[in-house]
Amino acid sequence: MIRDPQTLEALLDAVNRFVRERLVPAEAIVAETDEIPEDIVREMKELGLFGLTVPEEYGGLGVTMEEEVMVMLAMGQTSPCFRSLFGTTVGIGSQGILFDGTEAQRKKYLPRLATGELIASFALTEPDTGSDAASLRTTAIREGDHYIVNGTKRFITNAPHAGIFTLMARTNPQDKGAGGVSAFIVEADTPGITIGRKDRKMGQRGAHTADVIFENCKVPASQLIGGREGQGFKTAMKVLEKGRIHIAAICVGVAERMQRDALHYAMERNQFGQPIAEFQLVQAMLADSQAEIYAARCMVIDAARQRDAGRNVATEASCCKLFASEMCGRVADRAVQIFGGAGYVSDYGIERFYRDVRLFRLYEGTTQIQQIVIARNLVREAMR
Ligand SMILES: Cc1cc2nc3c(=O)[nH]c(=O)nc-3n(C[C@H](O)[C@H](O)[C@H](O)COP(=O)(O)OP(=O)(O)OC[C@H]3O[C@@H](n4cnc5c(N)ncnc54)[C@H](O)[C@@H]3O)c2cc1C
Repeated sequence: MIRDPQTLEALLDAVNRFVRERLVPAEAIVAETDEIPEDIVREMKELGLFGLTVPEEYGGLGVTMEEEVMVMLAMGQTSPCFRSLFGTTVGIGSQGILFDGTEAQRKKYLPRLATGELIASFALTEPDTGSDAASLRTTAIREGDHYIVNGTKRFITNAPHAGIFTLMARTNPQDKGAGGVSAFIVEADTPGITIGRKDRKMGQRGAHTADVIFENCKVPASQLIGGREGQGFKTAMKVLEKGRIHIAAICVGVAERMQRDALHYAMERNQFGQPIAEFQLVQAMLADSQAEIYAARCMVIDAARQRDAGRNVATEASCCKLFASEMCGRVADRAVQIFGGAGYVSDYGIERFYRDVRLFRLYEGTTQIQQIVIARNLVREAMR
């Protein structure tokens, strides 16, 4: 749903300009230094990117899902590390507070997230608990008006920069499944929290992940999201479901960027006395990519509209994440192929995208987990 086309157009114009004039020229330096320059971070805050999904009454832009998708399609036109910096704050890090938090929790945190003063991270994954998230081992044991948290969270995006963590921990150790899990807002400066060293990753340099270690960390009971134990896994799944449409939109945006770069290269590169874009075998690669990008774009916009209309989009969100992330990988592979040897050499930039987009098939639910969700929902529906 687009609330006001003119307001959205103004926002998209501003984001497109920011991407074109500030982010694209900074891609190489960010990849080299593994840091996003401070002035760029400040401009992201000024543009309102950290507050995209925070409702207006808490100081954000309160975009609908369709509007969020439009912004992510625009953000995808550059290195995905830039999106990652505000992506956890507008997505998995904050939405649990918005969906299931108490009014006091919303009022306390959402305005500061919206301005970018606080960065939110989402802490679900553990060393022994990835796809099977419901079996997580981090514990939060109630003692008086506090919970004592112990455990390690792994690969947590923006952990080194986070002001708060949306933490999933087991409040009922007797219940080994989803029902024993609760969600908390944990302030990063709480004693007992240690952030591990930054992970050295395949791609997306400039976006940082690290372990978050909790050792007898005393979290006030008022930080339990929604004030109810045993709801944390449901909160996490709601957050991840919305996140799947968001990530799928980024996949489409980045695929469009790689396709554009490949097309330009193919039109400029001559072999056998003519631009390689005139060879039908190269055209076939471009055509296959274009068809897949278009399909994913249609899927993502459709799922966003259905979600805005209040429909259950659990299956559609997983279809989008599955198809768009796999599509993005295929488009990256074809783009490298079209660049030939230059596709393998860092100076030309396309190999960086090839590495960057590999992550999309892994996090926020691997491709196999999306397949499982889709099939399980189909079977459930058929049995009704
Ligand atoms: C850069 C990066 C950023 C991340 N950011 C965050 C974050 O901010 N917060 C957070 O909580 N987590 C984060 N993660 C963790 C991420 O979500 C997990 O890595 C992902 O969910 C997969 O879990 P795993 O790595 O333990 O793989 P595993 O679960 O061990 O899976 C390994 C392989 O087995 C397959 N597999 C597993 N179970 C099944 C099954 N039942 N059927 C078929 N195949 C199966 C998987 O698909 C995969 O191919 C991040 C990871 C990375 C790399």
